[in-house]
Amino acid sequence: MEQARIDSIGLTDSALSATEQMAFDERLALEAQPTVRVFTWNSPAISLGFKQAPPAWLEEARWRDAELELVERPTGGGIAFHGSDVSISVVAPRRAGVSPHALVSAACDSATRLCRAYGLEATTELVSGQTSRVTYCLTQSSPYAVFVCGRKAGGFALRRFPDSWLVQGSLLVRPLPAVLAEALPRGVRAALEERAVSLSEASGKWVDEADAAQRWLAEWVGGMMRCETCQKDVPTVMRVVAAKGYNRSLARPLYNCRECFEKKEKTKPYAQISRKTREPTQNRQDEMHEHVQSEFRLGEFER
Ligand SMILES: [Zn+2]
Repeated sequence: MEQARIDSIGLTDSALSATEQMAFDERLALEAQPTVRVFTWNSPAISLGFKQAPPAWLEEARWRDAELELVERPTGGGIAFHGSDVSISVVAPRRAGVSPHALVSAACDSATRLCRAYGLEATTELVSGQTSRVTYCLTQSSPYAVFVCGRKAGGFALRRFPDSWLVQGSLLVRPLPAVLAEALPRGVRAALEERAVSLSEASGKWVDEADAAQRWLAEWVGGMMRCETCQKDVPTVMRVVAAKGYNRSLARPLYNCRECFEKKEKTKPYAQISRKTREPTQNRQDEMHEHVQSEFRLGEFER
């Protein structure tokens, strides 16, 4: 698979309402803006899958009276519960060679790595025997599901837009907010208790959503780095930030894998000049190299 190129990656302000969050994803998908964004929810909410009919118990007026948000996601799948979860949205332009399955799989993998970072045994189910539409994301089997200790902790859904793929996913970090749980029918709550699990419950430790969001982003960035020279995906990319005698206007700095970086260091004229002019006692900082995770910029999303 050709790795989807992500231009923008970061945490999004959780002050957005549920409606604003979903509108944001839809806009990025329509603009085919390559993005990974991780966010938490401002207040307890339920999201229905794209064009999902709300279940009978979900009376909109009663729901909103309880100050709970209700929103339709731009992606399919069943009802998802928000307010104690961390969500991720990935937009990748549709291009030959970019496999949507690989894209969702990468998102699932980032979620299982996150779970493992909390010491949890996590697995991904990429296909499911479920043929009809699921009503609830966390209590039913669905493709692209994340399981922790045999119970469902998260799910992902994919939708094709004219020029992009949109992946949305959610991982339950703590038990559902009380106000939301209390608004659910007893049967739904019982099913959640039996089949779903949050990272906090599974680990027996307090897991903070903001911390989980940060870590998830780090996992994702870790999976997305690409050497701009050989196009290989590597755990670390590097570039020269400042080298004595290097005329910056001569070349655009490229992020390279270690191998390409070292090869270039040996062949580039500036590197030779720098070596030639360097005194034996000269501080090594003169050829300072920046080791970076990627060209990701945090918090650059506009409202
Ligand atoms: Zn390389």
